[in-house]
Amino acid sequence: MGIKVAKFGGTSVADANQIRKTGEIIRSDGDRRIVIVSAPGKRFDADNKITDLLYLLKTHMEQNAPYEQVLQIIRDRFLETERELGVRAGVAEEFRVIEARLVEGASADYIASRGEYISAKIVAAYLGFDFVDAAGLVRFGAKGKFLREETKEALGATLSACERAVLPGFYGTRPDGEIKTFSRGGSDITGALAAGAVGADVYENWTDVSGFLMADPRIVANPKAIDVISYKELRELSYMGASVLHENAIYPVRLAGIPINIRNTNRPEDKGTMIVADDIAEEQGRGQRIITGIAGNRDFTVIAIYKNMMSAEVGFIRRVLGILEDYDVSVEHIPSGVDTVSVVIADRYLNGKLDDIIDDIERKTQADSVEVFENMSLIATVGSGMMSRKGVAASLFAALADAGVNIRMIDQGSSEMNIIVGVENEDFETAIKAIYNVFVPTG
Ligand code: ADP
Ligand code: ASP
Ligand code: MG
Repeated sequence: MGIKVAKFGGTSVADANQIRKTGEIIRSDGDRRIVIVSAPGKRFDADNKITDLLYLLKTHMEQNAPYEQVLQIIRDRFLETERELGVRAGVAEEFRVIEARLVEGASADYIASRGEYISAKIVAAYLGFDFVDAAGLVRFGAKGKFLREETKEALGATLSACERAVLPGFYGTRPDGEIKTFSRGGSDITGALAAGAVGADVYENWTDVSGFLMADPRIVANPKAIDVISYKELRELSYMGASVLHENAIYPVRLAGIPINIRNTNRPEDKGTMIVADDIAEEQGRGQRIITGIAGNRDFTVIAIYKNMMSAEVGFIRRVLGILEDYDVSVEHIPSGVDTVSVVIADRYLNGKLDDIIDDIERKTQADSVEVFENMSLIATVGSGMMSRKGVAASLFAALADAGVNIRMIDQGSSEMNIIVGVENEDFETAIKAIYNVFVPTG
């Protein structure tokens, strides 16, 4: 018998109806023996995700604002699901514990983790699978560093001993038993860790889209789904903002050569996207498609530095980076020319430090000019198919020019698998649409 690890995201477990669809998918294939679940997500556009409500609950507590109403909304959603599915998952008792811990001052990580915890209890009861808590299995060090090897061993030992199990995503524990979560979207990581630990045949990631799409469907209408993509290409797209799969969900399965299959819980008949080893994907992709996908993020600042004869000055870039390090600011990209270098910084790292950084750069490097471009977006066009083709960059820049988009910065990774352009935030969506339309034939 094979083994498939299946992770179901927030929309797949949003209510009783969605959990029934999830159950049907699991029961239709006996190999789907290890299931990882998120906390319930949105049931409709204007709905709230349970995880967001749990953070809100903690904020109310910290601000000494009344918390009961928020708690009641969360509890009612879980109670309704439990009732509609006709299972006994102990939701009311769990909420008595959560309220007591909340009042005692439990951490935000603990409170946030309860979404996944109760979700897994309900799904396990519904399927008749074992509930296996991630606490004690997904391990972090005392300072919060994720412990990869320990986790693999603990998860492997426990899950291999289960016939069929449901495990909550998103969190684990520190050595003292305190709950610690991954960053948002982290249930994808738990799923990948479980798949790696049991040596699964495939890691299925069930969500609300029929695979990894060539562009964000909230920007491009009906983008094409990608059939096959390499881990490397996916990592670039995820890092650049394609939010389907958490960027850290790739290494645990990549190491073990386990393919990831992104699937749609609402359309289980669709094959979705297969994410496979680089050489396999390249073989299939090469010659057929030019680009694999487009992704991007808003809110960056570019500092462009010009100094005559910079290229002859030993250690110039190191001095610039040293200044940023002093301010504890990490750098996203460093495109450079003969006597110019730019540093691209995500705005979330800057909080009020920009003026001091510029002063320091001017003073310590004696640059001829330091220009700052704020409110920038970065857009990555990714694809191993670009390597062997001429003129890809030219078509890309022409498409942006035709759409009236100003390019403020260009960076091409050494692999030639990735062209990154910096444009103004207000041109972000126009630029993505223009790139998509020039490379993806309609019909
Ligand atoms: P889940 O809750 O199942 O983990 P997420 O919301 O984290 O789901 O991820 C799926 C969502 O990612 C989709 O609904 C879609 O809006 C968004 N998304 C952004 N970029 C892409 C892309 N390139 N392909 C597919 N979905 C994308
Ligand atoms: N529930 C968590 C979040 O909303 C983790 C996840 O869904 O992957 O971020
Ligand atoms: Mg997600």
